[in-house]
Parts: sequence; C-alpha cells; structure tokens
Amino acid sequence: MSGLGKVYLIGAGPGDPGLLTLRGKEILEKADVVVYDRLVSPAILGFCNQKAKMVDVGKMPTHHKVKQSEINKLLVQFAGEFPAGIIARLKGGDPFVFGRGGEEALELVAAGIEFEVVPGITSAISVPAYAGIPVSHRGIATSFHIITGHEKAESNGELSLDFETLAKCPGTLIFLMGIANMDFIARRLMECGKDPKTPLAFIEKGTTPYQRTVTATLETAGATIVRENVTAPAITIMGGVVELGKSLAWKKNLPLSGKRLVVTRAAKQASGITARLTALGAEVIETPMIETRAVDVNFDWATLANFDILAFTSTNGVESFFRQLFAAGFDVRVLAGKKIASVGKITEKKLLEYGIRCDYVPEDHTGEGLGKLLASLPVDHSRILLLQGNLADDTLLKLLPQATRWVVYETLPVAELPEWKREAVAGADAVVFASTSAVENFCAVIPAEAGISPRTSFCIGRMTESAARKHGFDTVTSDETTMDSLVKKIAEYYAGEGA
Ligand code: SAH
Repeated sequence: MSGLGKVYLIGAGPGDPGLLTLRGKEILEKADVVVYDRLVSPAILGFCNQKAKMVDVGKMPTHHKVKQSEINKLLVQFAGEFPAGIIARLKGGDPFVFGRGGEEALELVAAGIEFEVVPGITSAISVPAYAGIPVSHRGIATSFHIITGHEKAESNGELSLDFETLAKCPGTLIFLMGIANMDFIARRLMECGKDPKTPLAFIEKGTTPYQRTVTATLETAGATIVRENVTAPAITIMGGVVELGKSLAWKKNLPLSGKRLVVTRAAKQASGITARLTALGAEVIETPMIETRAVDVNFDWATLANFDILAFTSTNGVESFFRQLFAAGFDVRVLAGKKIASVGKITEKKLLEYGIRCDYVPEDHTGEGLGKLLASLPVDHSRILLLQGNLADDTLLKLLPQATRWVVYETLPVAELPEWKREAVAGADAVVFASTSAVENFCAVIPAEAGISPRTSFCIGRMTESAARKHGFDTVTSDETTMDSLVKKIAEYYAGEGA
C-alpha cells in the first residue's frame, strides 16, 4: 500500500445517463472525491456517493476555468489527502478522446499514483448514432476520422490541421469542438478541393433531452451555424453517411423533450415518477427534500434481553438499528433465539443482507397487517420491540399497546443542496411537488431569489397547490391525487405550450 488514493479516469459518455458504463457507475458510487467537467450531466452526478467531495473543474465558457495544470495538481493532491481513497476524475465522453486524460495520467505516473482508466462512450460516434447517422456504412464510408476543430498551432496561432490531407480523405470526417471555427474549416477544405456539396450535420447536445440536428453542406456550413444559432457542445459530421440520417433518425421528439423538471420526492418514491417523466423525454433532477439519519441515542443494549420479538417496519430501520448495534460493539449474536418480524418483502430482504431470516411477514405489507399478525401470536406482547423512525404513525403501537418502541432513525428536512444540484435546479423549467412539506422545504433550501429557481410548479392536491402559490409559484395541479394523473397533466401542459 502506497498510502495514496487511487485515481480513476472515468468517461461519463455523451450525456444520456444510460450511456455511462457499469464500471464507471460502480466507482462513482463509492468515490471519496469526484472531480468533474462541465459536460457531465446532473443525472450522472446523482449516481455519485452522496458523501463524496464534489469538485467542479467545469470549463464554462463564461466562468473562470480551472487550468489543466491545476486539475493535474488537484488529482495528485487528493490522492495524498485520501490515503487508500477513491478519486474519480469524471470526464465527458471518453477520457482519452480529446479529453486530456493522457496528460492527467502522465502526471499521476510521475507522482507515483496508481490509476485506472474507465473508457466512456465517445460523443464522436454516439452522438451521430442518436441522430441516426452511422459513422461508417458499406459503400459510402470505409473509414471515419475524429478531428479536433480547436487546436491552434504554436507557430502561427492557426488551426493545426492538415487540410490538404483531410480534403482528400474519402471517409467520414467528425469534428469535435469545431463550431466556432467551422466557417474557416469548411472554407479551407473547399480550397483544398473537397466538394462544396458534401453533406454535413451539426448535432447539438446529442443524446440529451435537448438534442438537435441541423443539416447543411460544406458551402453553407458557416451561414447555417449563424442562422440556426448552433451552439456548443456540438459535433460536426461530414460525408455521405449524413444522408442516411433522413431515413434513420430514430430519436423521437417526445412531449417533454427539452424540459428539465425537478422532482422533490424522497428517493425511494421518486423513481416511479422519474421513470415516467424520463420516458416522456424530460431531464429529471431528483432532489429529495427529506433525508433520514440514524438517531444518536445510546440504547441500553442490555435491555434487548427483555424482548423475544423484534419488528422492523422499513429498510431504514434495519440499517440504522444494525449500524448502532455494531457501533456499540455488539454483533448479530445478541439476537440469537429472538424472533424477527418484518412489515414486507423489501425490509425482509434487507434483513437477509445482515444474515437474518424473518419469522413473521404479514400477507398485506402494511403496519396494520404486521400489527394484527403480531397481536394474534400467543406471546407476551410486552416482549415485543418495535424498531421504527420518528415519523412512523401509531398503528403498530395501538394494536400492540404493551410493546416497546425504539426510534432508530429520524427523517429530517434536507438542510442544503450540493452546489452541482443547486445549479441543476436553477436551470430547471419546473418543480414537481407532492406535499406541502416538500414545498416548504424546497423554499427553505432554495429561496426565491429573482430568476434563480424555476417559478412553475406541478402539484398533487389542493393543499400542495396553495402552499406553492403562497411561495409565489405558478401552479398546475393534477385532477386526481395520483402520480399518473400528475404526469398526464404535465404532458398536457407542455403540449399546450407548444401548440
Ligand atoms: N472526451 C469527449 C470529447 C471532449 S471535447 C468525448 O469523447 O466525447 C468536447 C467536445 O465534444 C465538444 O466541443 C463537442 O464537440 C463534443 N461533445 C461532447 N458531448 C457532446 C454532446 N452531447 N453532443 C454533441 N457534442 C458533444
């Protein structure tokens, strides 16, 4: 062991979070530090270990950009600060395709720091694919070439491209970072003999909900960029394969394409609505407004001996209970001989992770079901221990009045959002609220500074609606108090807007 952390150069892919590799996700989930670039989407940042230190070296064109030499130094510094830690260097696309990953790796080698490369799906190939353009195609292009449209020669400050060779090249030409210089690039290619009628496509923000394809020819390239206001990040693809996009463009314009929505539900409940909104084309930023924390009370663990049955009503309860049991220096052997009850299958599965099989799980997976089941047992009810959160209702205690309850975790409002999430929320089109407490917590964390946060909200229920209005949101409320009804309402709202 070198006593230094290990650095992972990870490719985040072109934008669609589904295009991150499994290996990349696995490392992000356990990273101690994540050093990320501007092109990495919020959904991918959302995969990162919540406790990780998140360092934005984003190269916003308008912001101060962290110099490459500083990024290199930062990686070395973090490897020192986190002995045996995991430092994730997360870059758009593939780290070794115009990502300067090689320079970072060289710096790590020089500093004696262990590293690993996790390749990513490069935008050069995947972005055309999402626009229905194959980079190679039998009979049309037998090679493809990925070119930077950005690198200036040190001698004369001109683009250091060999236009003579490029113009003669029969394969597909793919330019990254080339929008600003494309007028020049196109003119030079034509001067060197490339056919002015060569079809080309600019694909902006490919694979994201904001993807846009604009087509042109070599001779109209510069004018088209200006007219259509093509902006970075975009790639330019040139050659006969571009024509195939007319038949193969498969990515549909969905009802919520181009919309960024904030979902404020707790993580577990959010996934359903997130999946539905994503399927309709939206970019969803999950921002739970409550979090659970283990309660730091010192249970009198000796009194566990007074109980024969331990009942768990949530996975949070299971995790918090064992975390505290272990912290107190005990292990599962203190549960020997006890019966274990669980409210349902998910909690049951969580218990199994700790090597514990449940003796009692009710048919209907509710507190009431569990209470009735336990109440029906021919045992001394005072020897039942309920392990619950602070917000658990009294259903169980009412059915088992002699039982004891230990509060093993607390649910608290989220106090602040990480910087990257704040930014993602600030750029959103609307917020989805399912409860008044979500509205209140959201406004406490993100005060309505002028123009900072979205002012449109989609609400479930009249109470939620009036809370949102009180805080100055425009509201659109679902007809019924279900997620289905709300999702339908959101789609209708944006369909109307487009009409
Ligand atoms: N390592 C990255 C490229 C970094 S250079 C990769 O392998 O994809 C940055 C350039 O990549 C941008 O200027 C743009 O040309 C291209 N790019 C990255 N993501 C893109 C996207 N989602 N849509 C279009 N172009 C993208």
